[in-house]
Amino acid sequence: MTHELRVQAVSQVTDRKPLPPKVPQRLEALWATDVFTLSKMQASLPKDVYKSVKNTIQTSGKLDISIAGTVAAAMKDWATAKGALYYAHVFYPMTNATAEKHDGFISVQSDGTVITEFTGKVLVQGEPDGSSFPNGGLRSTFEARGYTAWDVTSPAYVMATDNGVTLCIPTVFISWTGEALDKKTPLLRSNAAMNKAATRMLKLLGYSEVAPVNSSCGAEQEYFLVDAHFAHSRPDLLLTGRTLFGKPPAKGQQFDDHYFGAIPDRVQVFMQDVEETMYRLGIPAKTRHNEVAPGQFELAPFFEAANVASDHQQLTMTILKSTAKKHGFVCLLHEKPFAGVNGSGKHVNWSVGNATQGNLLDPGDTPHSNMQFLVFCGAVIRGVHKYGPLLRAVVATASNDHRLGANEAPPAIISVYLGTQLEQVYQQISQGQPTSSAHAGVMELGVDTLPVFPKDPGDRNRTSPFAFTGNRFEFRAVGSGQSVSGPLVAMNTILADSLTWMADQIEAEMGKGADLSAAVRTVLKEVMDKHSAVVFGGNGYSEEWHKLAEERGLANLRTTADALPVLKSDSIEELFSRVGVLTPVELESRFEVYAEQYILAIEVEAKLVVSMTKTIIYPAAVRYLSELSAAIANSKAIGIEMDKASAESIASLMQLMMDTVSKLTDASTKHDFASVEDHMQYASQTLRPLMDKVREYADTLEGEVADDFWPLPTYQEMLFVK
Ligand code: ADP
Ligand code: MG
Repeated sequence: MTHELRVQAVSQVTDRKPLPPKVPQRLEALWATDVFTLSKMQASLPKDVYKSVKNTIQTSGKLDISIAGTVAAAMKDWATAKGALYYAHVFYPMTNATAEKHDGFISVQSDGTVITEFTGKVLVQGEPDGSSFPNGGLRSTFEARGYTAWDVTSPAYVMATDNGVTLCIPTVFISWTGEALDKKTPLLRSNAAMNKAATRMLKLLGYSEVAPVNSSCGAEQEYFLVDAHFAHSRPDLLLTGRTLFGKPPAKGQQFDDHYFGAIPDRVQVFMQDVEETMYRLGIPAKTRHNEVAPGQFELAPFFEAANVASDHQQLTMTILKSTAKKHGFVCLLHEKPFAGVNGSGKHVNWSVGNATQGNLLDPGDTPHSNMQFLVFCGAVIRGVHKYGPLLRAVVATASNDHRLGANEAPPAIISVYLGTQLEQVYQQISQGQPTSSAHAGVMELGVDTLPVFPKDPGDRNRTSPFAFTGNRFEFRAVGSGQSVSGPLVAMNTILADSLTWMADQIEAEMGKGADLSAAVRTVLKEVMDKHSAVVFGGNGYSEEWHKLAEERGLANLRTTADALPVLKSDSIEELFSRVGVLTPVELESRFEVYAEQYILAIEVEAKLVVSMTKTIIYPAAVRYLSELSAAIANSKAIGIEMDKASAESIASLMQLMMDTVSKLTDASTKHDFASVEDHMQYASQTLRPLMDKVREYADTLEGEVADDFWPLPTYQEMLFVK
């Protein structure tokens, strides 16, 4: 990397034109054209087969394997008509990635001719091997088989790109011994467990007809776009997705002038391209806007059933990245690509509901008298309090550590925001009897031509990691590049656990002679007495909250190294076993995989800090220093003696930087650790601070060395040159 390349990058970016926008098509014409939808199945399958598939999808009925052959043939006909020669079982390993193995429809006949073929057996089950995915000890090599199995509840689709068309089938990924190797299996199990517990509760509350209860998810995705010319000139962005160096620009995001501003032309064309692909794949993109940081944007879909939403979220991340490439951008899903600038997260909106009772977290107008809502919401509060550290652990990654627990939103302390109205209702419950719900009334704007509108009964609190937002909870601490499955699994599991416990208690109260509503009141009161410490409506970023939270006994797990060991605790192991979501062995494997990923991420960054300092930053400083020293030496000759202090201070910064690089290099060679936990702490407490120190010197140098010697695209260029 040289300064010339940097200058070239700036001019190439300045010269960029948006790609021509596509001819707009009617949404109805685009919608789900690339998906093998229920209506396509209805048109192509015999009536009884269609009915059986539909029953499995819509009511979680048992899958009748004997229909697989017929479905596979129809699927193949549909996909090959769209140009597909290959199919892929798509699965979601524990790494947050999406994996796929492609196989041809080709079948060679005895006479040497070929036909296309797709049997029920291959639809239902695949064996991708995939033994190189980290599995946390679940697959020792002698029994290393891994299988994929068709998830009929998430629709098959064709992925049609400029490079070809492939039929994609969402699957679970399991080991030869039947253990879950992926993120989908536990999600399906957690949903089933939640359904069971919620159904029992609804029956107890007096409903005779209760349709299957499903969890829902709408994930708001924040991301950065950086021009590819810049990103490709920065080894750190290329390899780690974040800048390991870079001096903050004079102007950052202080003016908030990007937030909700007009979307830049190139970005708008990019977004429309993304949305068109999403619509074809049946993903309901709904909201787009600029985010707080310059170069940062957000995309939110309409919510869907959690399992489908999770698959769609994985697809969305893939689409964002591949479409960005087409438009000359790199899409960064890192939680903190630029130090000192807002980071990116994913807000996972989550609720539970069914066809007979609707959204079970909908408070209605008078929540105090809405027993069903109070029970379900109370169950969430109990779960978040009891298992707050679990919720922290499922969002713990090396990159998310730069948001959570750093001085940024949301904090690493898991609390629940309810809003004033609900907080009051639950207070009344604690005092005995809920009697009223504060009414928000209407908003008068004082201008006759403006509409009068009803005020929401609860405000928003953007500093809360887990906020009730009207008819759902919003888990805001999830990482930008993370799969939403882990958080959904945790939420479904704690809800299932709480509902089961509450149902037991309510039944016990009724056994003692209480009527239903008295029994519910007693149990809700107990829930609030024990768990209201987790409810917090104030500023989650403030120092006072950190103190108060400690007094309330809430955990503040600042780093992944602190948070991940929660997965090994007895109470979490017992929770997942009891609810039937993860066996102890499966849970342990998750700890192993996530810990390994954390350590690897930091070790890779540490190596890169060393090599970028030695080969890019130090040499640039040397060149400048030699020019500066020459000028100082020559200055005598022309009779104006230059002060050599500037050269000395640069030389000493360089020295300090290289000394720290040596320390980091030495520190990186340590490999004997008593435990994975120790290794994580070492990465967090020794490697990271040394990296930060090197960066501090390097960034100071960036402010001292002449700009025409600096080789790396600057923050100013990456964030503001468009
Ligand atoms: P905000 O940025 O104000 O939080 P958005 O409109 O950007 O709100 O996103 C809200 C998200 O919540 C959307 O994805 C929306 O579909 C989702 N959502 C709404 N209702 C539910 C629900 N019942 N279950 C899950 N998600 C929901
Ligand atoms: Mg939000």
